[in-house]
Amino acid sequence: MCSILIIQCRSEKTQSNIVPAVVAENITHTPSSKPDPIPEYIDLDYVMGKFSIESHKMLARIDKAYADNGNRYMHKDAYSAFKEMHKAAKSAGVNLQIRSAARNFDYQKGIWERKWKGVTLLEGKINADKTYEDPKERAEAILRYSSMPGSSRHHWGTDVDFNAFENSYFEMGEGKKVYTWLVENAHKYGYCQPYTKKGPERPSGYEEEKWHWSYLPVANECMRRVDKEFKNELIKGYLGSEQAVAIDVYTHFIRSINKSCL
Ligand SMILES: [Zn+2]
Repeated sequence: MCSILIIQCRSEKTQSNIVPAVVAENITHTPSSKPDPIPEYIDLDYVMGKFSIESHKMLARIDKAYADNGNRYMHKDAYSAFKEMHKAAKSAGVNLQIRSAARNFDYQKGIWERKWKGVTLLEGKINADKTYEDPKERAEAILRYSSMPGSSRHHWGTDVDFNAFENSYFEMGEGKKVYTWLVENAHKYGYCQPYTKKGPERPSGYEEEKWHWSYLPVANECMRRVDKEFKNELIKGYLGSEQAVAIDVYTHFIRSINKSCL
């Protein structure tokens, strides 16, 4: 029915330059004016990291020339853009090395549970298991820098960590040169820093991460899927996962990013 309306509109236009109001109104309801559908592979499982990293058709293995080891993967579109960005950075004397990229649910679960049990210490050498008896407080302490499995942007294959996991590295010398270059140029390749300094603009969420950059053309499609289908109640399957609802991980972490990345 909608395609008939378009034909009507075109024929009216041919006959005279005046488009009758009723036809003009119908044009706004044709499918072409609706937002593009989210690519099918970006389903709820994908955005929650429920897939195999090695065999996913949209993920590419990162050449070890670009990373700290030869077993890292990222979304192929993000990888193409990264390679262009890497080339430009290199010609400006800046070396971008990928230290982490796509991580699925199980990988993130490993990171989270090691912190939960105190096997990996939190920043400041804090043992979360010994320091935080209250499970909500323990989850919040880990959430300063690590995502709950199922809610990480690293699941999307679009987000990468560069060079070093300390903000201080990026505040002087070589690291400062790297960060300044990224701030000035990454946007030209579709990359944005989601976790900027917290303040009135970004009152909650992860602490600032100068190393974490996100390829927006795909990440924003993933965010659209999250907005449509993700619920805190879907987070389950690991130690402390039941805290996702009380903390409201969706509002306070997934959505609480640098507004210029949205
Ligand atoms: Zn990261």
